[in-house]
Amino acid sequence: MKAAVVRDPVDGYVDIKDVTLRPIHQGEALVQVEYCGLCHTDLHVAEGDFGKVPGRIIGHEGVGKVIQVADDVTNLKIGDRVSIAWFYRGCGHCEYCITGRETLCRNVQNSGYTVDGAMAEQVIVPADYAVKVPEGLDPIEATSLTCAGVTMYKALKVGDTRPGQWVEVVGCGGLGNLAVQYAHNVFGAHVVAVDGNEQKLQAAKDNGADITINRHDPDVADQIQKKVGGVHNAQITAVTTEAFTTSVNALRPDGKLVAVALPKGDMALNIDKTVLDGIQVAGSLVGTRQDLAETFQFGAEGKVKPIVQTRRLDEVNDIIDEMKANKIVGRMVVDFTK
Ligand SMILES: [Zn+2]
Ligand SMILES: [Zn+2]
Repeated sequence: MKAAVVRDPVDGYVDIKDVTLRPIHQGEALVQVEYCGLCHTDLHVAEGDFGKVPGRIIGHEGVGKVIQVADDVTNLKIGDRVSIAWFYRGCGHCEYCITGRETLCRNVQNSGYTVDGAMAEQVIVPADYAVKVPEGLDPIEATSLTCAGVTMYKALKVGDTRPGQWVEVVGCGGLGNLAVQYAHNVFGAHVVAVDGNEQKLQAAKDNGADITINRHDPDVADQIQKKVGGVHNAQITAVTTEAFTTSVNALRPDGKLVAVALPKGDMALNIDKTVLDGIQVAGSLVGTRQDLAETFQFGAEGKVKPIVQTRRLDEVNDIIDEMKANKIVGRMVVDFTK
């Protein structure tokens, strides 16, 4: 079967190769991939940023149908549509795995990095960790919810978002656009969207943002304080350290800064503000299986709609170049059904 594997030497690109998968073991299922989105995390893997894994099949925004199950598998059957997410499996028995925080497991495996991923015609999954894609959810859109969608849905939970509250979404790209939709349409919150790109701000507005502000304005936090009295939580999806540092000042007392993006470097916390206003800072990383199931369900109900476009497997290196040049709005999804 054909697959996109990290090229050797590890230089940021992939080879499209014929790969033979091992037979499935107990507890596993074999999935015929229908669609797989390409994510910036895949680019980091291909660059060797997390450690070099030449030959590894990339991909963690996969959706496909089960075509084989081991004889001990009870939760999946042939024909089920499932997802292949970055969180491939946890150990299942540590402090984090047994208390609903499985993505923090120290022995976690990640699709397309520590194990072969879904940018391939077929992929092996641990049946217990393969979250089903509900009927009524478009499988192409589901690929984006598998990664960006669940990441933002979870981050809004981490921010304790409640109906009627104000949420600041900083950065309105692939993550931020879904953050606006989940905050507004699922959590019933009001949204201030901040980005440097007017097109992305317009898209945020179209998706329900109540207020949009250009991040190049000199007084973004002041404007937010004046207009709404500060936000209850700020979701930082922009890949700049400055976005983290300035967003603290947009929070109201007891507000929460939720760190999602991963710029290199440190954030500077205003200590006066943090202490006197009781500010909380939290990181948030993807989501659990339950978070993903909920994320999918809201997608199936039509409450969120990712921007997606399909491409061919042999175009993956072209897509990588387009992503590096910041040319893409929404997500490029490789179509394995043709
Ligand atoms: Zn991803
Ligand atoms: Zn664990």
